[in-house]
Amino acid sequence: MSDLRPVIGLEVHAQLLTQTKIFCGCSTRFGLAPNTNTCPVCLGLPGVLPVLNRQAVEFGLRLGLAIHSRINALSAFARKNYFYPDLPKGYQITQYEHPLCQGGYVEIDAAGEKRCIDLERIHLEEDAGKSVHDPQGGTSAIDFNRAGIPLLEIVSRPEIEDPDQAVTFLKELRLLLVYLGICDGNMEEGSLRCDANVSLARPGQEGPGTRTELKNMNSFSHIRKALAYEIQRQRGVLEAGQAVISETRLWDEARGVTAALRGKEEGRDYRYFPEPDLPELLIETAWIEAASRALPELPREKRRRFQDDYGLSPAQAGLLTQTPAIGAYYETCVALFDRPREIGRWVANHVLRVLKEQTGGIEDLRVSPEMLVDLLRRMEAGEVSSRGAREVFDEMALSARGAEEIIRERGLTQIRDEGQIRDVVRAIIEEHPREVAAYRSGKTPVLQFLVGQVMHASRGAADPGMTQIIMKEMLDS
Ligand code: ADP
Ligand code: MG
Ligand code: ZN
Repeated sequence: MSDLRPVIGLEVHAQLLTQTKIFCGCSTRFGLAPNTNTCPVCLGLPGVLPVLNRQAVEFGLRLGLAIHSRINALSAFARKNYFYPDLPKGYQITQYEHPLCQGGYVEIDAAGEKRCIDLERIHLEEDAGKSVHDPQGGTSAIDFNRAGIPLLEIVSRPEIEDPDQAVTFLKELRLLLVYLGICDGNMEEGSLRCDANVSLARPGQEGPGTRTELKNMNSFSHIRKALAYEIQRQRGVLEAGQAVISETRLWDEARGVTAALRGKEEGRDYRYFPEPDLPELLIETAWIEAASRALPELPREKRRRFQDDYGLSPAQAGLLTQTPAIGAYYETCVALFDRPREIGRWVANHVLRVLKEQTGGIEDLRVSPEMLVDLLRRMEAGEVSSRGAREVFDEMALSARGAEEIIRERGLTQIRDEGQIRDVVRAIIEEHPREVAAYRSGKTPVLQFLVGQVMHASRGAADPGMTQIIMKEMLDS
């Protein structure tokens, strides 16, 4: 039954970067002392009323417009009723029958081909509090700071074909959220969360197969592994002639398996009903138009433009657009020095490597665009070799000092003086009689070894092109 085909649909929750919560004035700041960031509204005390945060709606609009959704001029809030200790009101305010946005799609690269992943809907809702368990003390406590943080729920259609596509879709969606400035996209801290629904379909089968819903994955790699595991597991169940059970399963990273949490059939009647404390949400055309005009350049457009305007490869364009700030850094450099491909290579290789080592954003990089361009100009003028320039760059990133000073201090000034190079070449020839004899008896590749010795002896300072010519000339004479 290897013709069983995976079917995946994702539900993504994005915490919105508003200043305040969705229905009250409490701050959304992360990491405050438990329960200090609460008020009667988000604690669900009696006698209070929610007031919708306009910024949350604006953020939802931005995403909807960016992914070509239909914006519902009239949407509404509903109460989703269930009992859980972290839900103080006994219901969650969400959107049900009338979500903010419907449809839309995200374009992804699936194994080199363009694919559109269609979306079901995007809606606004409030987050719940957080249970904090202390297994040693045998107690559980609840922190309501997160209760009422605005979430955007993004639901894909069941059209994703494999774990790779699921991760590619999520990465593209995350990039969009970050570009739009509406979510920080941090999966480890839970500001971007994803549940994955998965089933297997037989060719020609009528209707979808029974699905399971996977939770508790807080990185792209968890999602990829959980989906791959679950597809294999369901395949095994079906091949053994049994039926997949509709249930929620948790990814267990330590054991590398998904395990059943609860059945999906029981206890899933949320008795949704209209939220009587909030009016319907009417979005005027002028608001939609203004939000649409204010959209920034989106990742896909920027990647395209970096390839077309600067001659970058698709891979480089991807690297240089991974945050808006990295793209801006690159373009500032190019505006100062018209060497887009050279700068592209430097930013992709060295700037990004240093950012990874220093685990900071590009805002924290101690090499400004002006400083990088200054270094590259010196390299082009032959003042420093490309190998030397790499060393200079690393030092600049550590000490924030300029290229000129570091080149001088470390003696990295490239040697282009013929007499000086000749002296080093002569010395190397004298030290390597066996290699010289080998070269002269026809083993010409030995030339590269000898040139390498000169580079080494000069600590990379000798001009490689000149060294090559002089070495050949002296060996051949
Ligand atoms: P629920 O309320 O149980 O989460 P929804 O109808 O809202 O159900 O669907 C949630 C997600 O499940 C969507 O992302 C959808 O694409 C996905 N989904 C629905 N049917 C299937 C299926 N047969 N296989 C995989 N995913 C599915
Ligand atoms: Mg669900
Ligand atoms: Zn509050």
